[in-house]
Amino acid sequence: MNAPLRELTLPTELAQELAAIYEDMEEGYDKVARDIGLTCEGCPDNCCDSYFLHHTYSEWAYLWQGLQALAPEMQDRIRDRAAEYLRQCKGQLAEGRRPQIMCPLNENGLCALYQHRMLVCRMHGIPATMTRPDGQSMRFPGCFRCQEIVEQKYGQPEAAPSMDRTELFRRMVGVESRLLGDKRHLMPRIKMTIAEMIVQGPPSLPVPHCQR
Ligand code: SF4
Ligand code: SF4
Repeated sequence: MNAPLRELTLPTELAQELAAIYEDMEEGYDKVARDIGLTCEGCPDNCCDSYFLHHTYSEWAYLWQGLQALAPEMQDRIRDRAAEYLRQCKGQLAEGRRPQIMCPLNENGLCALYQHRMLVCRMHGIPATMTRPDGQSMRFPGCFRCQEIVEQKYGQPEAAPSMDRTELFRRMVGVESRLLGDKRHLMPRIKMTIAEMIVQGPPSLPVPHCQR
């Protein structure tokens, strides 16, 4: 028999910490984008149709916090689009393609949950670096438009300004650990699209025996 589940919600202090991390991310992003001269204005691409996957329960819970505050009609529209997204996604994956489908939260070109949008949505675009906990360094080149500017202006990607994500990710891991607490080892790793997070409902935790 499956263990009963209870909805996993972000306590206020963790929601505030996550919002503060996002704010610092935005500040770092804006600085590097300014230095490089990258702006999304007039870009022929719309990154909201990229196949982004998300990995933390904290962001999933935060997304739902925003979703539940929207007007019921808007929530219904988003849920319908999320179901359609999953249907199309299944088809494109079955054809061996990387899905390219507009995010169900995109409403007439704008993000319907801008304050609650995910880390990937905030970081995509500029060059970034990160040192993983195992010491391995990673480098992200930024979006195609950014790569074009970097090539013209700096020649080598290493010569361009970039954002170090290490500290921000360390803080994200801290929020995730505090949210999951001693259940962390029981929770499956996640790798989900926003549409899956919407269709599945808010994240949940197994209820311990002593609380059933
Ligand atoms: S992040 Fe890059 S590709 Fe995406 S909209 Fe902005 S400029 Fe265009
Ligand atoms: S959450 Fe918002 S910003 Fe991110 S892909 Fe969806 S619509 Fe775009």
